[in-house]
Amino acid sequence: MINNTYNYLLSDLKKLKGVGIKTYNLLKKKKINNIFDLLWRLPKSYTDRSKSTKIKDLKIGEVQTITVTPYKYNFPRIRNLPNKIYCKDDTGELDCIFFNSYEGYVKKILPLNKEVTISGKVGQFKNKYQITNPKYISEDASLIKEKHNKYSLTEGISEKVYNKIINQILTNLPILNEWHNNEVLKKFDFISWNKSIVELHKPENIGKYKSNFYKRLAYDEILSTCLVHSQIRKKIKKIKKQKKIFDEKYQKEILDRLIFQLTTDQKKTLNEINHDLKSNQKMFRLLQGDVGSGKTIVALCAAFNVVQSGFQVAIMAPTEILARQHFNLAKKIFDKNINLEILSSKSEYKDKKVIIKKLNDSKIDIVFGTHAIFQKKIIFNKLGLIIIDEQHKFGVNQRKKLSDKGGDNCDILLMSATPIPRTLTMTIYGDMDLSIIKEKPKLRKEVKTYSKLESKIDEVIQFIKKEIQNGNQIFWVCPLIDESKKIDHSSAIKKYEFLKKKFSINVALLHGKTAIEEKEKILKDFLSQKIKILVSTTIIEVGIDFPNANVIVIENANKFGLSQLHQLRGRVGRGEKQSTCILMFKSSLSENAKKRINILKSSNDGFTISEEDMKLRGFGDILGFKQSGVKIFRLADPIHNSDLFKLAEKEIKYIEKNNINLSKYKTLMKLYDQADVINDLA
Ligand code: ADP
Ligand code: MG
Repeated sequence: MINNTYNYLLSDLKKLKGVGIKTYNLLKKKKINNIFDLLWRLPKSYTDRSKSTKIKDLKIGEVQTITVTPYKYNFPRIRNLPNKIYCKDDTGELDCIFFNSYEGYVKKILPLNKEVTISGKVGQFKNKYQITNPKYISEDASLIKEKHNKYSLTEGISEKVYNKIINQILTNLPILNEWHNNEVLKKFDFISWNKSIVELHKPENIGKYKSNFYKRLAYDEILSTCLVHSQIRKKIKKIKKQKKIFDEKYQKEILDRLIFQLTTDQKKTLNEINHDLKSNQKMFRLLQGDVGSGKTIVALCAAFNVVQSGFQVAIMAPTEILARQHFNLAKKIFDKNINLEILSSKSEYKDKKVIIKKLNDSKIDIVFGTHAIFQKKIIFNKLGLIIIDEQHKFGVNQRKKLSDKGGDNCDILLMSATPIPRTLTMTIYGDMDLSIIKEKPKLRKEVKTYSKLESKIDEVIQFIKKEIQNGNQIFWVCPLIDESKKIDHSSAIKKYEFLKKKFSINVALLHGKTAIEEKEKILKDFLSQKIKILVSTTIIEVGIDFPNANVIVIENANKFGLSQLHQLRGRVGRGEKQSTCILMFKSSLSENAKKRINILKSSNDGFTISEEDMKLRGFGDILGFKQSGVKIFRLADPIHNSDLFKLAEKEIKYIEKNNINLSKYKTLMKLYDQADVINDLA
């Protein structure tokens, strides 16, 4: 029975011999909940105990294995003195020393006049060899004379106990029915799952990432993730909704009034979205495009069309100021007859109540806001589209809550500039349809990026003075000193005071705690160019759009990840003027830091930057990735296993196209993603 076999892997750790309550709790703390989880903690190195020596050839300070005969005990009656066991072989003598041990225990593991094999680090005391507290002792030499894996996870669990647990699992591994077809298996020399796991834990195979067993297992998890996504997508697609009916000629009227023309990619993505809106299948689409590629206007057009078709729209942004900016833009480009409103968590209670009532009565067509727009008490009368800007700033749960909120008739459009490497897009966003804006608006110049030591701040000030004389505006970003305390604005405040003294013209300060009205005024004044320098914390990181600002100074730049720096830098270079990004550092950079900053200097493309950054830093380390709910793979690596990601993509397409029955993948999905999607769908 197939169930029985994989059930062993999903069973509780208490089932294992040698796992007492203490070990159980230690493993639980490390998020190891079942036997399957344990398989993916790989040995980091090993101790070779396989060769034995004679006492006369022992080397002090090394781990060695010897077969000896105990011939005398010494159990002192004085506390703190160790128990001593005199041992010998035909070449010499050695003492075994045990601190804090029971007489009975010692007698049991080292009975007199019987050969035992011992392994441990050899020391010397008063000219005699000794081994202290050896853990590897057995009358059966073959149990000792092996390579013993070292796992990094032995805090509180001894190496010996841990190895025992793993070996127990490896010998009891169920033989699972193969889920891959022969064509796929051929790529991995037909190695089975079972055999692969055993190979994975062999000491001599540590670090063999290119081997058939490693690749097979990596492919298993990639395929599983893709399959689960594909099933979710199928499920969403099955939901029938009311079609949105609208005439695109009104959208054209809005676009004609803009000072620019949409790029080809903007047009293409807008068409894709409109097509989804008009269909009777629920839309679940991600609009992806690098910073500054012009996603907002595409989203607003979609919102406009949905309103034309008689539905309401909710547009959510991660920050208050971004929501406000979208709101202001909509006010500017839409006709007066479209009712717009902004709801913020800081809105007055009275205003909130009015807005809530109006939403319920369909008197508001489009509402803008932060996550505040999705509180329980807010009930839309006829919500037809949810747009989430900078979706990676929201957790997976928030995203899920939103899609639940909408109901069947509600389409969902997510937007993101998070540059996910191509190999990952499908795995991460596999359950969504993708629209990508690749090209940036014409006439944009690449932002020039420089790094400067903080001691050279005078040069920066000189540069800025010139820029301001030429009618330009400046962002000056200071990191939060203590990330855990999001209210720590002292560095921004200090810099604001400093710059105010240096420049007689208008400098303003913006941070998370600035009052709403004040914020509103500052943003307005910055837009109308009354303010020349805007000092802020990273609250301007996402979305903010001031085309006239063309210099951004980022202090303490080493505090940010490359992708985050790219996002910040994306605040400038939005108009047609040459823009500059100055990265300031407190001290000179390490070689690795230099390499990373050079990536940023040599490219303005978010995708290239994130891929290069990944190569340097390893997966899972890029800022924004973790927050975005991206699953960290156990073995698979998006850069090194890109061929496997491509293979999975091909296979999924084939499966979807030919409606392949997925029952043979059931075990795979159950094990790797604990997913029951097949049962749900059946
Ligand atoms: P993002 O994709 O980062 O959200 P925005 O939508 O904020 O980018 O657009 C960035 C800037 O580019 C805005 O000032 C916007 O008005 C402008 N823009 C958008 N589309 C075009 C275009 N086709 N041609 C010129 N400028 C454009
Ligand atoms: Mg944006």
